[in-house]
Amino acid sequence: VLAATACSNSNDNNNGGSSTTGGGESTENGFKVGILLPESKTTRYETFDKPYMEAKIKELCPKCEILYQNADQDSSKQQSQAEAMLTQGAKVLILDPVDASAAATVVNSAKGQNVPVVSYDRLAKGPIAYYVSFDNKKVGQFQGQALLDALKAGGDPKRADIVMINGSPTDPNAADFKAGAHSVLDGQVTIGKEFDTPDWSPDKAQQEMEQAITALGKDKIIGVYAANDGTAGGAIAAMKGGGFTSPFPPVTGQDAELAAIQRIVAGEQYMTIYKAIKPEAEIAASMAIAAATGQAYSGEPTTTVNNGTVDVTSVLLTPVVVKKDTIMDTVVKDGFYKVDQICTSQ
Ligand code: BGC
Repeated sequence: VLAATACSNSNDNNNGGSSTTGGGESTENGFKVGILLPESKTTRYETFDKPYMEAKIKELCPKCEILYQNADQDSSKQQSQAEAMLTQGAKVLILDPVDASAAATVVNSAKGQNVPVVSYDRLAKGPIAYYVSFDNKKVGQFQGQALLDALKAGGDPKRADIVMINGSPTDPNAADFKAGAHSVLDGQVTIGKEFDTPDWSPDKAQQEMEQAITALGKDKIIGVYAANDGTAGGAIAAMKGGGFTSPFPPVTGQDAELAAIQRIVAGEQYMTIYKAIKPEAEIAASMAIAAATGQAYSGEPTTTVNNGTVDVTSVLLTPVVVKKDTIMDTVVKDGFYKVDQICTSQ
């Protein structure tokens, strides 16, 4: 009987080439789904990713029970959270790893217990089942191109320095954003200072920008590449503290956070990148239910991404540039924000 149970769980062709574990559950009876998100200083996770994911899981599997944890940018904390979920009997994990390499331990121990892992937004190492994210090189290219266009509009883009504030070194997306931005900016601009920001922390980004202002001098800085809106917020706070006044040099961002959209309206931030989180979260939910129940994911067109361990069936969505004059046509049109959320009286 034991052998039969174990065998009924091993299905070799259930998910199109990705790691094949799980598959023994049914939505009729329900099962436990674990969600592990990386941090809460960036507003997207608690405000959008979590609720959208939970709603879709409940829609696809009303009897499923959701286990949720946020790691607060602590990789070992995330590992304990994942182990605890496995102990509690989670049958599938949706994992947005703090540290993609360290996450291999979790992915391997899940696989050892026949629990598939959907890698969410950031590509984890190890034998994962599915991956959903955006085209992250493109995110960096769009940021770099927007910054370059803005610099050119003001004259020679090499007339003075830009500062580059990249994301966390443990996040493979940060490496993609950085590489994408460099592919556009290198040779076209003068990079006065460049930082990788531990934990994507806005406070650390602020300190980095303060250092850059001290080292280069306020008048030598004509633009800032900030990898996301949290780090852009830190950089802009440092600029205000360092005597910059309107008009601010162009500062990039990402995530279309409400505070960033408001800074764009106010002329303090130049652009952001809108990544539609609802489809991303819903696709992750669908992949998780498919993996746990032994169905092949069928939804958005898939592509294959190699994570160094396996070829992973993946969905990569398309990012969208948002500037002052396209707020209405992007985040408002898509229902991400209402106009009166953006335009609160100051
Ligand atoms: C995500 C970004 C986010 C950043 C910080 C990245 O992996 O793709 O949307 O701003 O992490 O949490």
